[in-house]
Amino acid sequence: MSYESKMLAELRMPPRKRVEQALLRILLRYGGVIKEFGSGQEIVDELADQFELSEPQRSAFLETVYRKQNRVKRSLLWHRLLFRAADSLARENMVSRPSQTIELTHRKEWMLTEKGLDKALKLCNIPLTQKDCLSTKSFEVRKIVNKLKQSPPSRRDYDPFDKRKRIVQTTREAVLRNRGFRQAVTEAYHYKCAVCGLKVKSPDSLLWEVAAAHIVPNRSFGRDDICNGIALCHLHHWAFDVGWFTLLDDYKLRVSPQVSRLPSDFGRISGYEFFRALKDSNAKINLPKRSEIHPHPNAMRWHRENVFYQQANCKGTVYDEWQQ
Ligand SMILES: [Zn+2]
Repeated sequence: MSYESKMLAELRMPPRKRVEQALLRILLRYGGVIKEFGSGQEIVDELADQFELSEPQRSAFLETVYRKQNRVKRSLLWHRLLFRAADSLARENMVSRPSQTIELTHRKEWMLTEKGLDKALKLCNIPLTQKDCLSTKSFEVRKIVNKLKQSPPSRRDYDPFDKRKRIVQTTREAVLRNRGFRQAVTEAYHYKCAVCGLKVKSPDSLLWEVAAAHIVPNRSFGRDDICNGIALCHLHHWAFDVGWFTLLDDYKLRVSPQVSRLPSDFGRISGYEFFRALKDSNAKINLPKRSEIHPHPNAMRWHRENVFYQQANCKGTVYDEWQQ
């Protein structure tokens, strides 16, 4: 038995497999990334609390002799155990190593991979179908988000259609790209609805309410670019998709005149009149700071012409009066 295993056994430290599972769960809660394990780090203590470690278990040192330099390195046994557990997860491709993650986040961190994320969701009894709204990004999705943010398409002559796009996206690559789009858009809008500013997440902090809407939708071969997207709360997402409102080139809202035909008990949320609030709004929607990722005029024009109800019972065709 090695010196390290002997110490682990003597101090009755938790088994590595259990530490691995605890790491996956905590990674899920911390947005998919945790720093290398060192003193003074919140999660190192939080995990120690979870395992109800005693003081001797928390403070035991391992002494390793560096033969080459003829010096002794002391490291905490608990930190060593956390490292071994993370290292074992990395070997199973459940997390990326700090040396890999640094390329994406510029920090030395362990990050959940898709495989690790699936496992973490299973451990926490969260259905895989909720992945789209998760605040946790996997290594693979983070890569796509970085790409979308770093190289937005040129603003001139932007074509919001992807002719090669398949409507039913079942390949792994397409599913990941779709998640990358959602994450990149909601992140760009700081998880707030662009119309009403609602920002809220689930009590366990895992799921954001806000969704990423395609301006030219998937079914019409809309591209998965941030400038063909907008972050909206569920209510505004629905109203945008069915054509109750659209966006003008100056990013103000235009509400369908169909609103005036609604019975008086429609669109009310207690004292809040949902449609009237939209109609009276003369302000710009909330936009990301960087103008190159704002909704593109070509995508917004398509929405006005094809989704928006410009006149009562008339979809899209007449919009010139307010476009000029
Ligand atoms: Zn909203």
